Amino acid sequence: MEFFLKQALHFSGEAPFFDQMKVSRIQIVYRGLTNRCSNCGGRTLFVPNSFFKVNKECAACGFTIERANDEGFFIGSMSLNYGMTIMLYLIPVLLLAYYKVIGVSVAIALAGMGSIGFPMLFYRSSRSWWLMNYYLLFPHHLPANGGKGREGEDDNV
Ligand SMILES: [Zn+2]
Repeated sequence: MEFFLKQALHFSGEAPFFDQMKVSRIQIVYRGLTNRCSNCGGRTLFVPNSFFKVNKECAACGFTIERANDEGFFIGSMSLNYGMTIMLYLIPVLLLAYYKVIGVSVAIALAGMGSIGFPMLFYRSSRSWWLMNYYLLFPHHLPANGGKGREGEDDNV
């Protein structure tokens, strides 16, 4: 995948820039999957001793995690959380009930509890994965790669 991506970028003339990036896409994925700062890899995405509160910026490198004028950015993480709850929890419960592995009343109870519990447990990952998703597409926006974070719309060009 990385090879084909580099070949495509080389063809488009952008390869030299992407070759110089300090934080690679593989590092971005690793940091995203382990709920770490996309920029420096520190465990600084969330406020210490808090399960749901996201830090406004990274305590280790100052990277802006949650911008003041960008409330809409993390709506994507809610959609991701919703989708994962359906795919990883509700559909399996539905299939277990459909194939009569569990009873319908048990399935309804599990679905009800899981609809609240799964999104809560997946909350941190959904936030981190959404941030990872952005920087996977725009790795050159990371401050460590010489970018300005998610400064403005012009950055997305
Ligand atoms: Zn950081």
